[in-house]
Amino acid sequence: MSESGRLTSETSWILRVSESEANYWATYVVDGAMMISFISWDAFRLGYSVSATAAMFVLGLAAWTLTEYAAHRWLYHWAPALTRSGHEKHHDDPLAHLAMPWFVTPILFLPPQLLVAGYYGVSGFSSFLGGWFFGFIAYSFMHHSLHHYKPNWAWFRHLQSQHRIHHALPETNYGVTMRFWDRVFGTEFVKK
Ligand SMILES: [Zn+2]
Ligand SMILES: [Zn+2]
Repeated sequence: MSESGRLTSETSWILRVSESEANYWATYVVDGAMMISFISWDAFRLGYSVSATAAMFVLGLAAWTLTEYAAHRWLYHWAPALTRSGHEKHHDDPLAHLAMPWFVTPILFLPPQLLVAGYYGVSGFSSFLGGWFFGFIAYSFMHHSLHHYKPNWAWFRHLQSQHRIHHALPETNYGVTMRFWDRVFGTEFVKK
């Protein structure tokens, strides 16, 4: 098979996984399990104090909010990569169950966690990752809810209309759970 032929079949395999509904819900299970294991690592293996664990968790959560903005703006809308073509599908069909393959986060996050917290025994790193994953899961569910549910809460309807604007004008409103980073980077949609 030619190089490009092989590349196409590899990519289509990954796209097939990311378009399956089983994968969509599996990501919650896998990421949730990683979050719990990361938090327990600091608490039970390294004997990290509850307050320090909580502080690192909050720091990780704050780091997530910037990740959410940066990933959406640059990985999903700018980089000429698989992430962009995957996200284009979401813009075309917002109700489809599309998600990154479930094995991507363990491949990216388990090795550094095992090295830093497991091998070197550094406390706090795992709770930081736990907070980051909590943000990631909350974002995923929020994004799902913005497209699938219609509760009558003012704050929710507001986020929903902000995200609808992003779908119509993709250079605005990259933040899904909050508008803070759009204000910082000047990409917030403002009515003229
Ligand atoms: Zn969307
Ligand atoms: Zn988008």
